[in-house]
Amino acid sequence: MAELKLQHIYKRYGNVTAVGDFNIEVADGEFISFLGPSGCGKTTTLRMIAGFEKPSEGVIMIGDQEISNAEKGYFLAPEKRGIGMVFQSYAVWPHMNVIDNVGYPLKIQNVPKEERLKQVMEMLELVHLKEYAERLPSQLSGGQQQRVALARALVAKPSLLLLDEPLSNLDAKLRESMRFEISAIQKELGITVIYVTHDQSEAMTMSDRIVVMSMGKVQQIGKPYDIYTKPANQMVADFIGLVNFIPATAKGDRIFMQGDEAISFPNPKKLAGEAVLAVRPEQITLSKTGGMVEGVMNHRFYMGDSVDYRVKVKDHIVRVIQKGAGYNTYQDGETVYLDFDNVMSFAKDE
Ligand code: ATP
Repeated sequence: MAELKLQHIYKRYGNVTAVGDFNIEVADGEFISFLGPSGCGKTTTLRMIAGFEKPSEGVIMIGDQEISNAEKGYFLAPEKRGIGMVFQSYAVWPHMNVIDNVGYPLKIQNVPKEERLKQVMEMLELVHLKEYAERLPSQLSGGQQQRVALARALVAKPSLLLLDEPLSNLDAKLRESMRFEISAIQKELGITVIYVTHDQSEAMTMSDRIVVMSMGKVQQIGKPYDIYTKPANQMVADFIGLVNFIPATAKGDRIFMQGDEAISFPNPKKLAGEAVLAVRPEQITLSKTGGMVEGVMNHRFYMGDSVDYRVKVKDHIVRVIQKGAGYNTYQDGETVYLDFDNVMSFAKDE
């Protein structure tokens, strides 16, 4: 069982607050991603869970046991936490073959050789590397080495696994297939995983819940669908998926697009004054004949499965993506109409 709790976790380096007031309760068997731009505090948080960094404030618990309590000055050493880890530089030992690499954590626990080999082979089967057991890392591809690192982290049967950008050294195709492999292994073993990434599609596809971070602060914690459809603020809306932000003014129960008071949308959040409308490019329908907003076709980019348009609406350039559209359906300079199928709204500074 690995329920993980972080309560009011802060990490300060001098006057830099790398992590400020991080709170989460992770359920047993849950897959959680920490997602955010470079420098937002993802790795620092992961290292505090692992025990490589001491929190400046707050409590970390696994199940009912405190593993770190800044106020009491209590801190359990990393090797006593029973946590598995795989980092970006997956560092398999070059002079050891696959069996010895994966078996190393068992060796230092004095597991007898025969038992060790049995457990190693089970892990290699899980990561589809059985036939590579005798090879040295230099005889393996990047993805295979990454799976060796994963098998090595899993062999000691940790109930909590921390992964820090483990796919970042792999090419795009391999990254994608490894996503599914990691998810499948996690489900099969029922382990709790904390996965650090700055790649939103990785976080969206693999996670039960995503923690979106920015500048040391948690911006939102939620299921991928909720984060995408109900972003807590403009930063989250912008970081997850694509979005057009259009300045607007909120009055009463309507929000008016800046530049044309005739174009307005509902105001479910009861905003007042300066506001921002947010609409995703794929949630706009284009037409030649009529719609809520008139614009002029500005640019078109053919993407194969879709066309990525820029349409000038009043003073704004709006990005529109249409699946299955033909490149020549619209011509540059042509008048077009846009229907916003889903409009989100935020206060100006939200
Ligand atoms: P990346 O995706 O680039 O790895 P990250 O989100 O993991 O970024 P962190 O490595 O956690 O970010 O860093 C968070 C902030 O803390 C950054 O501003 C970083 O410069 C600062 N920081 C991290 N470690 C230290 C340190 N040892 N001393 C001072 N500042 C640090």
